[in-house]
Amino acid sequence: MEEAAEKIAHLRERLEYYSKKYYIDDAPEISDAEYDRLFYELKALEEEHPELYDPNSPTVRVGGAALDKFEKIVHTYPLKSLADVFSYDEVRDFCARMSKYGDVEYSVECKIDGLSSAIRYEGGSMVYGATRGDGFVGEDVTSNLKTVKSLPLKIPYLGKLEVRGEVFMPKESFAKLNAEREENGEALFANPRNAAAGSLRQLDSKVTASRKLDIFIFNMQYCDKAFETHSETLDFLAKQGFSVIPFCRIAKSADEVIGVIEEIGQKREGLSYDIDGVVIKVNSLSQRVEIGENTNTPKWAVAYKFPPEKKQTKLLDITVQVGRTGVLTPTAELMPVYLAGTKVSRATLHNIDFIRERNIRIGDIVTVQKAGDIIPEIVEAKGTPGLDEFEMPAFCPSCGSPTIKDDESATRCTNIACPAQLLRNLVHFASKDAMDIDGMGPSLAKVLRESGMVKGVADIYYLDKNSIEGLDRMGKKSAQNLINAIEASKSRGLARLLYALGIRNVGEKAAEILSQAYPDIELLFSASEEELCLIDDIGPVTATYIKEFFSHESTRVLVDRLKAVGVLTLAEQGEKLDARFAGLTFVLTGKLPTMTRDEAQGLIKKYGGKTSGSVSKKTDYVLCGEDAGSKLTKARQLGVAVIDEVEFLKMIGEKG
Ligand code: NAD
Repeated sequence: MEEAAEKIAHLRERLEYYSKKYYIDDAPEISDAEYDRLFYELKALEEEHPELYDPNSPTVRVGGAALDKFEKIVHTYPLKSLADVFSYDEVRDFCARMSKYGDVEYSVECKIDGLSSAIRYEGGSMVYGATRGDGFVGEDVTSNLKTVKSLPLKIPYLGKLEVRGEVFMPKESFAKLNAEREENGEALFANPRNAAAGSLRQLDSKVTASRKLDIFIFNMQYCDKAFETHSETLDFLAKQGFSVIPFCRIAKSADEVIGVIEEIGQKREGLSYDIDGVVIKVNSLSQRVEIGENTNTPKWAVAYKFPPEKKQTKLLDITVQVGRTGVLTPTAELMPVYLAGTKVSRATLHNIDFIRERNIRIGDIVTVQKAGDIIPEIVEAKGTPGLDEFEMPAFCPSCGSPTIKDDESATRCTNIACPAQLLRNLVHFASKDAMDIDGMGPSLAKVLRESGMVKGVADIYYLDKNSIEGLDRMGKKSAQNLINAIEASKSRGLARLLYALGIRNVGEKAAEILSQAYPDIELLFSASEEELCLIDDIGPVTATYIKEFFSHESTRVLVDRLKAVGVLTLAEQGEKLDARFAGLTFVLTGKLPTMTRDEAQGLIKKYGGKTSGSVSKKTDYVLCGEDAGSKLTKARQLGVAVIDEVEFLKMIGEKG
């Protein structure tokens, strides 16, 4: 019993971690098949031990959550998930369960691998569109959805209508996007599903528009017109101009359902978008009502997930690449095998913990699969005796500096001047919140790096106008502007400089606090970890990173070179950190009379406060303007203080 409780707790914790990576960060760390394996292991254990039921278990909730950076939309009709089946026997069991409700007809459809969204229409116009979130509350992504060309903004039907669809990124757009990201030194998306999710959840709709997303509508959530079957609703939606799920067949028995699954399986490779399975739904809407629903899945539908193709091969070697973020990634060099139609000779090994967990050793026979049919992955090793354990290199393969393993299993190069990390560091250094060097975005940073003129961030200050003028697409005027921007950046002060240097865990706030405690950069070279930990908000892990950073010889050289050209390495005199809002959380709602939302948020941040997108008991103030909505009501219900712009400005003026 105790052992089961421990195992359940462990699985819940792991699944929650992987869910966060997948749904919130759009950067999965394990394959869907591996996730599903852990999920169903937990589900089986929970069924054996109903006394350990937890309403917050990942098996009970719909994965995902709405991000605070978006306004929230409470779904009128919950966006549920689907129960999975993995074998034809389970498909037959499902059909047998359904046939208890009389003659059943099934709609068998492609399961598109993207992210779910609900879109509301009224009076013939789109009113809003939201992501699924946790199924009950999603993110308002209306303006982003409007950039999806196949989604109509106007429809002939004038009544109330809500549709649900899968936003996806076609395979070709995905390949192009990742190629561009690689060029620009940005992190790659693991698969089209994550790329679609990352692209739809952008604050700038222009970015979403550039990502070439598409949508297939697969369900009518609500319509004030009555229908008898799901297929009729899809026909109606197609007539309204929606791009409905393209592959949909009616089947009347388990055998017919399996026939359609096979047909879809054969078409899969040739499709221009990713599918990860087939959805089998009872077609009659009245039968659906009779059959009913579970909390997070309907009982009248299941998703058949395609099995990932697996092959065995020999692991010839493990090579290590240094990514643009300084992370060392181990890669398996394999004896080539054919998987899902492509030759696989390399597979990602993620990090050292992944290698240890699977006992992966050079020379062993390993089982390889294509996760989400994109990234090849090693799922297990045979365990041949006598092979050596693999160790991550203690020194960076790119620059030879020492490496460290961080708290997230990653091994990193500690050298800020490491050539492999240069592009990312340059872009961050010049960014608006850091040294704010206007005009030095990713493309110019790339040109400067490739020209060999900039080998480290300090080189920016040693550029001269004549040599910049000779660069690609750089005229006299823009060269002068760049020189001016570089000059202006010298006086940003210590806090901005510390942030710009990209010390791990040192964000804007930590940099500000650090610069108050150590107003001269020289003091940081001799600060001990113990001393650093005494500063509010600097924990032991961050203290280790800071100490590590300042004990590096290359940091000494870098700082000396910055000082030599007059970059300010002191905290700005007399500017004491005013953190009057420290520990306070604000929620903004409605339109403020004189300030924009960004300005108000900026002030809250400046004074050390936080903003959140939703009101809870933890909210301290709701800053309320005209036309405030549900957040105001919620604040009143919870007894949270509500202030207007005048009161807010007074709070800032009080001590100022
Ligand atoms: P799901 O993706 O298994 O199935 C439900 C979704 O299918 C619906 O939300 C809907 O948007 C979509 N869908 C596509 N075509 C459809 C159609 N024709 N009809 C109906 N629905 C259709 O479930 P989920 O809750 O979105 O995600 C759970 C899955 O996500 C897991 O099974 C796992 O594979 C994956 N996951 C992976 C990781 C990881 O780390 N790799 C982490 C969490 C979840």
